[in-house]
Amino acid sequence: MVIVMQKGAAPEARERVLNEVVSLGFTPHVSEGESRTLIGAIGPAPTEELREHLRALPGVETVVRITKPYKLASREFRHDDSRVLIGDVATGAGAFAVAAGPCGVESAEQLRGATDIARRHGARVLRGGAFKPRTSPYSFQGLGAEGLALLAAERERTGMPIVTEVTAPDLVETVAATADMLQIGARNSQNFALLAECGKAGKPVLFKRGLSTSIAEFLQAAEYVLSQGNPNVVLCERGIRTFETSTRFTLDISAVAVLKELSHLPVWVDPSHAAGRRALVPSLALAAVAAGADGIIVEVHPVPEEAKSDAAQQLDDAEFDALMTRVRAVAIAVGKQIDG
Ligand code: PEP
Ligand code: MN
Repeated sequence: MVIVMQKGAAPEARERVLNEVVSLGFTPHVSEGESRTLIGAIGPAPTEELREHLRALPGVETVVRITKPYKLASREFRHDDSRVLIGDVATGAGAFAVAAGPCGVESAEQLRGATDIARRHGARVLRGGAFKPRTSPYSFQGLGAEGLALLAAERERTGMPIVTEVTAPDLVETVAATADMLQIGARNSQNFALLAECGKAGKPVLFKRGLSTSIAEFLQAAEYVLSQGNPNVVLCERGIRTFETSTRFTLDISAVAVLKELSHLPVWVDPSHAAGRRALVPSLALAAVAAGADGIIVEVHPVPEEAKSDAAQQLDDAEFDALMTRVRAVAIAVGKQIDG
């Protein structure tokens, strides 16, 4: 349930509600809205009597039940859009963010080239996988810790915050020591141990939808991160598996609208992994912006054809330049703030 405090309720009233909620066996999650405080109480199904009791406390306006299985992610818990900060880059609640960089970190030179492409054309966040979840065990698996060090060096050089993937629960601490945002990949979308560990790491999370995950499953999985006390989750649609074979995955553009309807969390789109080939990336990216996404994450590479992973879908300097010009125009047209 959510306890909605009155506008301007005294801090003591809020403390009293929090104490009451805890003593009744619920876990409280406080959300500061624009004009009032909401206290989410997660726990056993509340009875009408219990809600009446809480409703009668000083400073309480009303108590509402959250009917959705995902509680903290739902708009019933928080009506206003959430804003998440990746380093100093904002996404959500009107702020549009662009992350770009290579699929995988391959070398200092390659990463520097990709970072320069990203930065030159206005991406504010640097992406790049150090730990790569590959379908085949014989494919390039990433440089691991060495890749993290190269990412840290690029942040040092450019000031760009870093989003990079963490593939296993026992790597969360290592990756979180470098990353400004932890990425949970599509193949780990229901790795609940990993999700819970990321919830404890104190870093924002870019959470990708699984290849065959329904939106209700996706939001319930996000709840594993949120319920650990980490409110900074960005949902990312990256294409789902369908019967269609002309694209790598089918970008579910309606997921953007549905997620924004059901949840207050920022929603990003990854057009690169959905498309699977560079010619299609701009159309999918622009569709995402127009549909109301709060950000995109795009793969760029100084020499895409030499990439050790996802060579067919990475954009080069000129392609990313052209895309960003159009992304800015559409973002402004739909009323988003975009830096860079
Ligand atoms: C990635 O972004 O590097 C990646 C592997 O994406 P996904 O998990 O969406 O396949
Ligand atoms: Mn990739």
